[in-house]
Amino acid sequence: MKTEIARIGNNALENEKILAHAAEIIKSGGLVAFPTETVYGLGANAVDSYAAEKIYSAKGRPSNNPLIIHIASALDVDKYACVNDKYALLAEAFMPGPVTAILKKRDNIPMSVTGGLDSVAVRVPSHPIAHRLIELSGVPIAAPSANTSGRPSPTCATHVIEDLDGKIDMIIDGGQVEIGLESTIVKLDGEYPTLLRPGGVTLEQLGALFGEVKVDKAVTQKLSEGERPLAPGMMYRHYAPKSPLELFDGSDEDFFEFITSIKDKEKIAVIAYDEDIQTLIKAGVGRDNILSLGNSEDIKSHAARLFSLLRECDKHDFEKIYSRLPSREGISLALYNRIIKAAGYRVIS
Ligand code: AMP
Ligand code: MG
Repeated sequence: MKTEIARIGNNALENEKILAHAAEIIKSGGLVAFPTETVYGLGANAVDSYAAEKIYSAKGRPSNNPLIIHIASALDVDKYACVNDKYALLAEAFMPGPVTAILKKRDNIPMSVTGGLDSVAVRVPSHPIAHRLIELSGVPIAAPSANTSGRPSPTCATHVIEDLDGKIDMIIDGGQVEIGLESTIVKLDGEYPTLLRPGGVTLEQLGALFGEVKVDKAVTQKLSEGERPLAPGMMYRHYAPKSPLELFDGSDEDFFEFITSIKDKEKIAVIAYDEDIQTLIKAGVGRDNILSLGNSEDIKSHAARLFSLLRECDKHDFEKIYSRLPSREGISLALYNRIIKAAGYRVIS
């Protein structure tokens, strides 16, 4: 299949034409990748079972891993899911935005979209391209991240092209995304709101909104044999670069001492911060082996760059990649969750 690639630029009329064309593809059962404020999504008509199923084969995604459906307005969610008081609170505070609610599904959402569950994940993206595409399509859009299953989620169109060129109808290139990590997922169909995946809306913000918020074990810990995460997707190997990644839990001094003690430094990569670059070079690490998440204080930049750096690692033949274990506070919990999964929970302390 030939994948059409269309770039959104400064010409409003041209952009509208591109999005109208993409909406036609969605309406006729095709697949379109598009930018959102979190990561790029791979979209299909969520009320067309056959179209939604194509997403699974393009991504190589297990069929029991349900899709998030994207809706133009928080007020329309009621058409596809049974909304409740907790949803109303969440929507008022954070929608449109980087948060997904799990609610009981209505019958118009096919079981293929929800992986056989009777609940559905709904999100109202704030990104203008995503928003306009849903509006013009006139249907809810099922859209997981637009990567091959298991690889880091795409934060720019190049990542989507790497994984899906030739497998989908169209890619809308809207530049670099803002957040760079997938949405916060909060389960609202039970007694207590439960965090299933941390993201741009933080646990602290949800706590302030709801009072008590439970956290699914899979957010921070490796599950034991037989345990199941509440979000089926958290079960799968994810984000892992080809070379093994190990995380260091300790002070900066101990981290540098540890890196200094490594013998074959040509074969390692270190994911660190701008301020570490000189220290790491002095410790004997080559400049090309140091990948920076940005300034150490700029947590937003760490989140935005992580997936891109993990993809960059795959272009080299490193024997090992080292990074620090992030904190679990604020948006950093999302970073912690993604990087510890990418590392297969290998932590050196
Ligand atoms: P992605 O679309 O790649 O961002 O992944 C979506 C995540 O949402 C996966 O981890 C899914 O398992 C999770 N998810 C989607 N629908 C549901 C649902 N009904 N209940 C629990 N988790 C869900
Ligand atoms: Mg994904």
